[in-house]
This record gives sequence, C-alpha cells and structure tokens, in this order.
Amino acid sequence: MRKVYLDNGAGMPLDPRVLDAMTPYFLEDYGNPSSAHSYGNRAKTALATARDQVAQLLGATKSQDIIFTSGATESNNLALKGVAYRAKSKGNHIITTAVEHISVINICKFLQKEGFDVTFVPVDKMGLVDLEQLKAAVTDKTVLISVMYANGEIGTVQPIKEIGKLAKENNIVFHVDAVAAAGQVPINVEEENIDVLTLSSNDMYGPKGVGALYIRSGTKVLPIVQGGGQERGIRSGTENIPGIVGMGKAAEFAKAEMCDEGKRLIVLRDRLISGVLDSIPHSFLNGHPTQRLPNNANLRFSYIEGESLILGLDMHGIQVSSGSACTSKTLEPSHVLRAIGLAHEEAHGSLVFTLGKKTSVEDIDYVIELLPDVVKRLRALSPLTPKEILR
Ligand code: PMP
Repeated sequence: MRKVYLDNGAGMPLDPRVLDAMTPYFLEDYGNPSSAHSYGNRAKTALATARDQVAQLLGATKSQDIIFTSGATESNNLALKGVAYRAKSKGNHIITTAVEHISVINICKFLQKEGFDVTFVPVDKMGLVDLEQLKAAVTDKTVLISVMYANGEIGTVQPIKEIGKLAKENNIVFHVDAVAAAGQVPINVEEENIDVLTLSSNDMYGPKGVGALYIRSGTKVLPIVQGGGQERGIRSGTENIPGIVGMGKAAEFAKAEMCDEGKRLIVLRDRLISGVLDSIPHSFLNGHPTQRLPNNANLRFSYIEGESLILGLDMHGIQVSSGSACTSKTLEPSHVLRAIGLAHEEAHGSLVFTLGKKTSVEDIDYVIELLPDVVKRLRALSPLTPKEILR
C-alpha cells in the first residue's frame, strides 16, 4: 500500500544532511562549550556557527540575539513570562489573538492568574487578525503584543509587518511565534519590527527537542530557568550541542531552499484543494485562500467527523490530522476553528493536510482519488447527512 504522510505540521522527518552534520557531535566532538580545553572550544565553535545560521534565516543582524532552548513551548514561556515579569512595573497588559498555539494561550491564562490583563483579539472568517481591533486594544499599560506569524492549523499568514509597526510606534515589545512559518515563508525581524521570535527545529526538518528564541538586543527578558548562566544567563543549562548543530544546519537549508520548495508546495497544495473541492460536494476550505502557508490545506466536510476521516484515510496509508497534535488530547473542537466562526460540528468535520519535502504529485493525486469514496461511505453512516446528499 502507498504511504502518504501529510501530517508534517505535527512532525517532520529529519533531513539526512542534518543528521550527517549532527553525528560527529554525539560520537567525537562531545565536549562541553563551557570547558576551557580544545574539546570545549570545538563545541563552542559549533554553537557559534549554529547561532549564525539561525540568525541568518531570520535576517537578524546580531547572532548573539539567538538563544537556544528545548523547543517552541519553552521559547514561548521564556518570551511571554520573561517579557511580562520584567515589564511588570511599567504595565500589566498583554495583547494576543484568539488563534494562537495552545502553549501561548495557556501561558496567557497563567499570566492572568499572576495579575496580568490579557486581551484576546478576534480574527475574521479567514483567520486574519483584525488590525483595527488590535490597535483599539492598546492601552498605556500594554507591555507585550504576541501574534503568531502563521497558523499551523488553518495556514493563515498574519500581517506581521503592520503589527510590528504598531508595536514599535507604541513602544510595546512584539513577540511572534514563527514555528509554523519558519522555513516556509521568508521572515525578517528587522523589516518586520519583531523584538522576540519563537522557532522550533523540527518544523524545519531539524531534530525534535530543540528550539530557539530571538531576543532583539535591548529587549528586557527575565530568565525563567536559573542555573549556570549559559546562553548569556537567559537560558541556563548545558547546551544540547548535537541538537543545536542540527537546528543550525536545518536553518541554513531552509534559507537556501525555501523559495523553490515553497513554489513547488503551492502547486501541490492548490492541486489538492481544488481536486477535493471539485470532487466532493459540501466540502470547503478553512483559512485564507491566498495568504496561507505553502504547505497547508485545511478542508471541511459537512455531516462527518474528522476523527473518523483520519481512520478511514489511515486504512489507505494516508496520514492527516484533525487539528493541532498538541490539542488532540481533548475532545473539544479546535479553538482556532471556533475562532473563525465555525459551529461545533463544522469544526469537528475538518481535516488538516500539511505537505512536506517528501510530498509528490502522485501522493496528492492518490488522496484526490481516494478521499471522495471515504467521505461518501462515512456520510452514508452518519445520522446528520440529509438523504438527498446520498443519492
Ligand atoms: N507554536 C506553534 C505554532 C506550534 O505549532 C507548536 C507545535 N509544533 C508549538 C508552538 C510548540 O512546539 P513544541 O511542542 O515543539 O514545544
């Protein structure tokens, strides 16, 4: 049976070239960058190279503004709590959006209990943040605006440059969770006035368990992990050198290859979207039709459940998702789909397809060929399906 993995948003394969770059740091160059001897120096050099590679992906002028972490959840914690606690004497208001990753939403809920006011700005039907509402939410107590670059579930890319301008004009720290966007679309922290930015290695074909936080020089962040003072005292703990080397290499390949790969993915993405919408009645695209990630198609099918579609497709070797892997432990429909105005049952009937480097046109055509039958079969079993649809 053909295997078609279209859940790259939940987990990407490691690029074999990245693994090659990492391997010596497990087996030969296993020194600690804090050590004074030559093994330490080699690790220190590898760390500096990775910092440069990640900085270059983001258009950051100073590579020391990159701090390595254990992943995006930690980076988001450091960004939001670090900025908020440090700015508490100045103000206690944070602005974010209703469609952020669950890690940002839950950190904000935690900060509310710590005495911060949080405004969750709504989005429109396509998932775009309403800039006027964002502007209206700013008060003289606002110390942080946190908006994701692009949404991993519905693919919508936000007007980051405009939000960065608004934040700068009001002297507010601007944090961007760029996990879903990095390596898919170009990002430039200088041009887009981004002060703090979250990255994850595995979302760029790097290893899991490594992330980074860009912190613009001069932005005040309180460390949330205390220890030996590594990473300029902002993130203590012995650096994960093999992982960091892998993340650096992944960033280098992403920068070099993103443009061509993005063009290829857009063709495949649009082939999937139109192939499905044309062949399956009562199917819809969630998210923005054009301002969307090259690798994301979120499709909705009336009268059936995403979970049963996942199992139906898995039987044919096709792996997709019904939302963010991070929220799949709850039975609640996706907060992102609810925020774009979908009813409970509409949100439940949605599927996320995230394409990747290994996705071919044959894979897409296989999905387009099989999905109509799977949907038809499930609709025939569903009590929600109107009879006239089944004919
Ligand atoms: N932010 C976004 C936008 C994500 O998609 C994810 C999950 N991939 C995270 C943060 C958290 O990442 P991790 O689970 O690797 O810490």
